Amino acid sequence: MIIHTIVSGPFQTNAYVISCPATLQAAIIDPAPGSAPAIIDYLTKNHLLASKILLTHSHWDHIADVAPLKNKYKIPVYVHLLDANNVENPGSDGLPCWIDIEGTKPDHYVKAGEKVPVGNATFEVIETPGHTPGGICFYSQEEQLLFSGDTLFKGTIGNLSFPTARPSLMWGSLSKLARLPPDTRVLPGHGEATTIGAEEWLERAEEFFGN
Ligand SMILES: [Zn+2]
Ligand SMILES: [Zn+2]
Repeated sequence: MIIHTIVSGPFQTNAYVISCPATLQAAIIDPAPGSAPAIIDYLTKNHLLASKILLTHSHWDHIADVAPLKNKYKIPVYVHLLDANNVENPGSDGLPCWIDIEGTKPDHYVKAGEKVPVGNATFEVIETPGHTPGGICFYSQEEQLLFSGDTLFKGTIGNLSFPTARPSLMWGSLSKLARLPPDTRVLPGHGEATTIGAEEWLERAEEFFGN
């Protein structure tokens, strides 16, 4: 699996293009504000076939460029049902949005344990509500890789004061991630990568981040 990171937008959100070198199939994760031109350029130059758009959650800094990419490639958008409304009706989650975002009807509602193929690799959906009700992570055991969205960052967690946050659910979500193999590489929605093993506090997150 080849991973390409594009950082963009007012919150320096990480969009990812992941691709399978054997099949050239690719998926786009969290197309952030202004990321579409760089994503298209990367896909074109590397002769990759975009097959789907995967959303870790529906905050506007993660979905802003879904519409232009879906329109160009005619590919399905995957999101959890509980986060879907804000993809179709951006701003409906009550989070103040600084830019105009075109709504897109998602095509597929992912569920816990679902396997999402990207070429020869497979990602399992882990439900991690807390930062948003429909927050999910994409995990590949073979690739030792976790796309953690805004659930887990290097050394910290996603904001729990936003309108749709469910703070009481966050601690269980982080415990789930704590049980993944320590060598799992974590690629978050913002900032640097980390590993599960490096984040030793996951099981005690409520002590540090609860109030
Ligand atoms: Zn978020
Ligand atoms: Zn974010």
